Amino acid sequence: MKRLLIVEDEQSIRELLALNLERAGFEVVTSKTGEEAIDILLKDEIGFDVAILDVMLPGISGFEVCKEIRMSNDTIGILMLTAKSQESDKIHGLAIGADDYIVKPFGINELIARIDAVYRRTPNAIKSVNDKKGLVSGNFCLDIDSRTFMKGQKQLDLTQVEFQIMELFFENPGVALDRDTILQRVWGENYYGEVKIVDVNIRRLRMKIEDEPSNPKNILTVWGYGYRWNP
Ligand code: CA
Repeated sequence: MKRLLIVEDEQSIRELLALNLERAGFEVVTSKTGEEAIDILLKDEIGFDVAILDVMLPGISGFEVCKEIRMSNDTIGILMLTAKSQESDKIHGLAIGADDYIVKPFGINELIARIDAVYRRTPNAIKSVNDKKGLVSGNFCLDIDSRTFMKGQKQLDLTQVEFQIMELFFENPGVALDRDTILQRVWGENYYGEVKIVDVNIRRLRMKIEDEPSNPKNILTVWGYGYRWNP
């Protein structure tokens, strides 16, 4: 669940935002002042994904809060709430490290869209997308946690060795892997068996994952060398 910190001094707006964003599935922490927000962030151990900062606050301004946050935190997304009359606020906010701004008054759907967009640009979000991407290769999907392998919507039953070969292929798309490398990486450095065991397993894998095992399109043979994953 994405975690938000909302800093807004006007109670009615603060409560309305919290209520609507919680309904939209966010975890929300609110603060009335910038000082309080900084204190919350300092003491926080879980981490916030996005901070929503009103510019006009009674004590230090939203800009000051933004600057303060950016001194120690590059990963949180920052969205500024600015008043319509203050065009220069937008530029100033972005210059000091805010990721985006939204002009009051705004609709809740517009706000949610902006929060999502800001979140997608945060290092944590980019990392989590990349982590997931590593498990998808072409039409195939490999889930490390559940150790399942999917072709499209269909789950295929692989042995642990076959699964490890697929992991190796997924890490090296388009790379010709020689038999010895596959043997070492899958069976381990101390395996003294025949390199032919690689071919046996590749043949079995092809039976399971290729549309036409006799005419493989995904696990290609590199003659006199080894195999190449073509997702
Ligand atoms: Ca205000």
